[in-house]
Amino acid sequence: MTTLAHPQTTKGVPTGAVKPRKRGLARLLSHHSFRRLVQFAVFAFILGIAIRHTLVGEAGAVVTASWEAYCPFGGFETLYKFIATGGKTVSHTHLSNLVVLVAALVTSIVARNAFCGWLCPFGFMQDMVSSFSVFVQKKAPAIRKGVKTLKTRGQKLAVIDRPLRFLKYIVLAWAVLGAAYFGYMVFRDVDPWAAVWNLAELSFTLGTVVLAITLIASLFVERPWCRYACPLGAATGLVAKLSPVYLKRESEACKSCAICTKACPMGLPVHTATTIKSVDCIGCLECVDECPREGALELKLGMPVIGK
Ligand code: SF4
Ligand code: SF4
Repeated sequence: MTTLAHPQTTKGVPTGAVKPRKRGLARLLSHHSFRRLVQFAVFAFILGIAIRHTLVGEAGAVVTASWEAYCPFGGFETLYKFIATGGKTVSHTHLSNLVVLVAALVTSIVARNAFCGWLCPFGFMQDMVSSFSVFVQKKAPAIRKGVKTLKTRGQKLAVIDRPLRFLKYIVLAWAVLGAAYFGYMVFRDVDPWAAVWNLAELSFTLGTVVLAITLIASLFVERPWCRYACPLGAATGLVAKLSPVYLKRESEACKSCAICTKACPMGLPVHTATTIKSVDCIGCLECVDECPREGALELKLGMPVIGK
C-alpha cells in the first residue's frame, strides 16, 4: 500500500498542522510586535516634529516643518493647484506633501495598503484605544459584560457596515475636488488628525467632534475611521489593487475556525475568502499571526487583480 506524502509548507512542515505556540524571542519577533514598533516610531517622529515646530515656530531663524508637511493626503489636496499653477500649493501644504504622497502610493503598489496598517499615526492611535479597551475589559468583567451586550445589540447595525464603507470615497472626492475648486483644504476642518494637533493649541473645530466620535467608537469597533471615512485609506486602497502582493487562504490547510476573521481590525471575513485582495485590507498581518494552522494563510505574489 502506498501512502501519499502530506503537502508541506515552505518551512518543511505539513500544511494544516497546528503551529507551535510563540514564546519569548519568537513572540517578540512576530509581525504584531514589529508592527507596533514601527507604528510607535512613526508616531514619535511626528510628535517630535510637532513639538519642535510649536516651540520654534515659523518666525525664527531656523525654519521648522509642521506635522502637516508630512501628511500624504495634503499631497492629494494640493495636486490640482500644483499642476495648474506650475508649482504653487494650497495653504498648509508644501512640496514635501507631494513627495510623501508619491512614497505612500509606491508603498501601496509594493505592499498593498500597508501604509495604513504600519505607518499611519492616526491608525496607531485607534489601535491604541482598542488595545486599551481590550485591556480594561480583561481586568473588569463588568465592563466586559457591558461591552459584550452593546456589541450584541449593535449587531443589528451590521447591515449598514458594507454601504457605510463607501462613505470614504465620497469624503475623498469631496476633499480633493473641494480643494481644487475652492483653492483651500475643505477637509481640514473636519479632519480628526488635524484636530489632534489643534487640540494641543486649544483650538476646537468640527474635527474635534469627529476625533471624539472616532476615539469613543474605537473602544467598541477597531479602526472605525479607517473602515468608513478615511479619504487617504480610500485612495491608497484603490491603488493597492495594482499590487502583486496578496494574502491567500489555503482551504486544505484551513480549519475554518474564524480566528483570522476575529483578529482582523478591518472586520474582513478572512476565513471565508480564498484570496484577500480587499481595498480595506491594511496589510497588518494580524490574521497571519493569529492563524493557528501551518500554511493556511500566506502572503503570495501574483498578477494584480482589480476585482474582488
Ligand atoms: S485562522 Fe482563518 S485561515 Fe487560519 S485555520 Fe482558522 S479560519 Fe483558517
Ligand atoms: S485581512 Fe489580515 S492583513 Fe488584511 S486587514 Fe485583516 S488582519 Fe490585516
